[in-house]
Amino acid sequence: MGRLYDMLSKDIRYQEGMTACINCGTCTAVCPAAEFYKYDPRQILDTVQTKDESAIENLLKSDTIWYCGECMSCVTRCPRSNAPGLVIIALRSLSQDLGYFTESEKGRQQLALKRTVGDWILEHGYCVYVRKVSFENHPEAGMIWKWELENLDKLYERLGANLDGKGPGVLRKIPQESLNELKRIFDVTGGIERFNQIENKSLEKATELGLTDGEYFTKIYTTNNGNHMRE
Ligand code: SF4
Ligand code: SF4
Repeated sequence: MGRLYDMLSKDIRYQEGMTACINCGTCTAVCPAAEFYKYDPRQILDTVQTKDESAIENLLKSDTIWYCGECMSCVTRCPRSNAPGLVIIALRSLSQDLGYFTESEKGRQQLALKRTVGDWILEHGYCVYVRKVSFENHPEAGMIWKWELENLDKLYERLGANLDGKGPGVLRKIPQESLNELKRIFDVTGGIERFNQIENKSLEKATELGLTDGEYFTKIYTTNNGNHMRE
């Protein structure tokens, strides 16, 4: 058995998610991600159960493991009680631990997720903190979003939200005490360590490519090789 399979098989999500795959393809047939992306959960489970070191390494360095939406529709349908979604989460964690995620376009985007959703949760208590959804990084939102950002306070007041305000209300400021508690949860569960790992490995990749941190971030945020979707 190879080193990578050994590491993977220690993950509780792998242990719970993989019994034995009979390659029936039911998971792929019900998978919403497989409908849009060049993605096949059946193939992922089949690759993993070969225990082949280089095939698993290729998987960990590929775009494939980042297409899953973690909806777990596959779990309810598998005739062998596998949970492909859980196996994929275990593969993602291993890819992050080993720094292999920087080898694929979708994997490199983990840094963008960490610096947006991840950091916003810790800094503001929200997955999406509207003031930081910049127009530059989201041109697809159009000029209306640019205008909304420039008029955010007036607009949210009209909509009845309490943006960054004290007391109750939608989008209210989350008290520091609650943010400290969130940070503690991320500390204890290994979330902060994982965030740091994503930062460190991404910095290594940026250096390898001769890019500054800012250039690397813009590149991963805006690059799309156009080869992800099913035809
Ligand atoms: S549904 Fe289950 S047994 Fe069938 S291919 Fe998917 S994981 Fe394997
Ligand atoms: S958990 Fe992932 S693999 Fe399973 S159905 Fe949802 S998107 Fe597809």
